[in-house]
Amino acid sequence: MKNLTTTLLLLSFCAGTSLFAQDIPVIDWEELQKTSPWKASEQWEPVPPKVTPGFITAPPSDALVLFDGKDLSKWHKPKYPYGVRMDHVEGILAAKKKDTEVFPPEWTVKDGMAIVKPGGGHLETNQAFGDVQLHIEWLSPVDPGKKDQGYGNSGVFFMGLYEVQILNSYENKTYPNGQAGSLYKQAIPLVNASRPPGEWQAYDIVFDAPEFNEDGSLKEAAYITVFHNGVLIQNHVRLEGPCIYIGKPHYTPHAAKLPLLLQDHSDLVRYRNIWIREL
Ligand code: MG
Repeated sequence: MKNLTTTLLLLSFCAGTSLFAQDIPVIDWEELQKTSPWKASEQWEPVPPKVTPGFITAPPSDALVLFDGKDLSKWHKPKYPYGVRMDHVEGILAAKKKDTEVFPPEWTVKDGMAIVKPGGGHLETNQAFGDVQLHIEWLSPVDPGKKDQGYGNSGVFFMGLYEVQILNSYENKTYPNGQAGSLYKQAIPLVNASRPPGEWQAYDIVFDAPEFNEDGSLKEAAYITVFHNGVLIQNHVRLEGPCIYIGKPHYTPHAAKLPLLLQDHSDLVRYRNIWIREL
């Protein structure tokens, strides 16, 4: 029976070949060997640099470790917060250009974690970044009295402007464009990949910084891709400007590189294993 099926399949294939043969160019491999035209489309340079991948969440060999559980030496407390409205954003950007004063970070480092100190201010990297890949692990503590935006809220602000929301979004109702993994008030995550509060979660994020022309007009928007606990939740999403709390965002020119900011939203959110790769 099997042989018969094979024979029938072969026959039908041959019939098909003869029927359409006039449409298919004949490849003369022997002739082609003389000129090897396939080589023209082989790109041999540049050779991608070799890196040793991390095991699961460990930093790869070419990553800059921003927090390894020991200290906050790569961070400071910014003098100015993030902007909640476009005029606020613009005011802060202008102020930061003139006044570069910063303060020691106030968050608590304990048992390998950096814990938000409510009211202690945000954390900002000493180094400025543009296009990056970021790995960050976070935990919203169990707190049954809390709900909505008040339950385990923090946030990762690329350039201090573009936020990937951190929130307990496990059975905690809120507006979806403000839930965990949202690009705050701009993009709802594709799925909710949240783990319960009290459990560690990870974001792996690719951030493409926006570019501006000499006259301050937008040349290229910012784009963000986010994996939440290994699940794709934002697929190369275009941002419409800074992630603000009030009003409609629009782009306002700024430096090509700016520090990464972690938000103090008065909840005891914890962080560990934070590493970044400049792209
Ligand atoms: Mg937040």
